[in-house]
Parts: sequence; C-alpha cells; structure tokens
Amino acid sequence: MSYPPDIRNQVRRAYLLKGPCQPCHHKFPQQVDGTRKQRFIASWFDEFSNWLEYSIEKDAAYCLYCFLFTAGYSERGHDTFVFEGFTNWQKKKRLREHVGDHNSDHNKCRLACEDLMNQAQHIEYRCRLNASIICLCYLLMQGLAFRANDESENSLNQGNFLELLKVLASCNEEINNVVLKNAPNNLRLTSPDIQKDIINAAATETTKVIITDLRDDFFSILVDECRDVSIKEQMGVVISYVNGSGCVIERFIGLVHVHSTSAASLKKDIEFLFSTYGLSISSLRGQGYDGASNMRGEFNGLKSLILKENSSAYYIHCFAYQLQFILVAIAKKHSSISSFFSTVTRLVNVIGGSCKCRDML
Ligand SMILES: [Zn+2]
Repeated sequence: MSYPPDIRNQVRRAYLLKGPCQPCHHKFPQQVDGTRKQRFIASWFDEFSNWLEYSIEKDAAYCLYCFLFTAGYSERGHDTFVFEGFTNWQKKKRLREHVGDHNSDHNKCRLACEDLMNQAQHIEYRCRLNASIICLCYLLMQGLAFRANDESENSLNQGNFLELLKVLASCNEEINNVVLKNAPNNLRLTSPDIQKDIINAAATETTKVIITDLRDDFFSILVDECRDVSIKEQMGVVISYVNGSGCVIERFIGLVHVHSTSAASLKKDIEFLFSTYGLSISSLRGQGYDGASNMRGEFNGLKSLILKENSSAYYIHCFAYQLQFILVAIAKKHSSISSFFSTVTRLVNVIGGSCKCRDML
C-alpha cells in the first residue's frame, strides 16, 4: 500500500510472478519455549505451496495472497500472516485455519490474485494481437508479400511478417515480452490462419469505410476478369461514385471467383457481392467492362441482363480500348501512319534493350 494507487496492481503482479518466498534449504532456527523446542518445517512449503512465505530475517511466516490484498478484504483488519508474521510453530493447525472456508478472507485474497493474473494475461494477449495487426497493416499498405519459403526458426529470412515482428519487438520491450519466443506456443498469433483472419478483418473494415463514403448514393461498376496463378477465373470489381465533396472516387471492392461464365451466373455473382455490402442494382448508373477480355461475350450478356433490370445502368465502353481500335483502323488505311508506329516500336525495342542507348537518348 506504500506504492501510488495507479501502479499497485503492477507491483502485485510482479510479486505474484516471483511467487512466494520459500527458502526451503534454509537452516530454520530453533525456538526454545520452556522445555519445548520448535522450528519452521520446510515441508510446510509443499503443503501450502501457493501462498506460504518465510522471512529469514524475521524467522516468521507470511501469506502472499493476504499480504497483497488484505487491505481490501480483511474484515478483521489485522492478520498475523500479513503484519508481524506467524511464529507460533507448535500450532501448525493455524496454517490450515488461516486458509479457512471458501468464503474466508484468505480465499477472497486468493481469488483477487487469480483475477489479477487473468487480467494480466488478457493485457498480454491484446499487446501480442496488436503487434501482429501493426505488422500486417504495414505489409498490406505497402502491398508486400507476408511469407517466405523457409519460415523455420533457423531460417535467415523468415519472411516480411515475422521479420517485421522481430524488428518491432527489438524496439519495444513491452512487445518483446509477449511475442514470438516469449508467447505461449499455442497462442503466438503469427500462424498463416491468424494472418488471413486479420487481413480479412482489415478488408471488411476498409470496405465499410468505402460504403459509408458512398452513402446509399448512385454508383457505377467497372469489371475486369483475370486469371490467378492457380488458373481460377476471377472478376475484379471496382465501384465509382461521387462523394460528399463532389469528387469522383474509384474504389476496388473485391474479387469474385467466377464459377461459371454464363451471363446469368456472372450476374448472380455480382448480386452476391452487392448484397454483402448492402448495395443495390437499382442505384447502379453505369457499367463498364473490358471489351478485349476473353469473356467479352459473357460480359455483353451480363450488361444486357443488368440493363433489363435497371435501364439507367448505362453501358460505357472502355475508352482506352476504343482508342486502340481507332489507331488500328487508321493504321490499316494510311501507310505513313502504319510505318510511323512500326518505327516507334522498333526504336523502343532497340533503345530499351541497352542502358547506354537509353542514356544517350
Ligand atoms: Zn492468506
């Protein structure tokens, strides 16, 4: 109680982490009381291992639980095991009496200690989770890969995520105490599954901000198809809208795995994405697709299906693609333009292949 109130729990935790002071190999001195000789018995530490303490200096026994919490719980207000220390070695039964029934002062203090340690674990867990979140948010923002080929303990490079966590831990003792080697093995919060959970949470939160910014207003969609490394057909969906300050905003809101490329199934996929974010086809004012895509026929069907449901969802052809169309058409008819483009192509190839040529250019 001599510590300021705001750090008392911290001090109590430090005491509890150290555990009770039990010098079992000490040569306990003998007390002579008339003809009786008595002393503290080391085996009492085994019997009352969680709380019994012995002070060599005072040759007296104390209770760790009550010592830490008695000010708040003891109704007697004065307890030998907290203040002057227990020394009446003949009366070992006093130790058991001190523990008492489940509602005793001692047991109230024990519960208070256990609560405090649980709370401490909770704080540690939060700190560990926070460290993982900080690392993942950084990697997400920079668009960096999370993992490495070899993430074993003795790998020289355990990948961006683990290496960044190490850096973070080396700069902050509080984090260092609870992450990586200092975390419980089953709760390190660094496994790929945990990484994915946190990333998904980040994606959900980010999309929430985008949808809030859209404010139930009109919007258009831009869809492109792509194939990922596992040869899965994916649709990337971007929404574009005018925000509260009158700026045109374009935001990527998700990848949809295309199960079947029929127009009806594409529309179902889009509807599913919309329903996930509370968007409605009735608020759609524009749609744009990549006209050069392998799926241009399917996109054409999708466009018609959406237009059937909402005639205000105007279709706008991709302008970059139209520009290319026009250039190709013109080059076909005018040989000078055609030769201009082939010269430019050759020039770019020749110059681009050599650093020296680039510098000269
Ligand atoms: Zn006690």
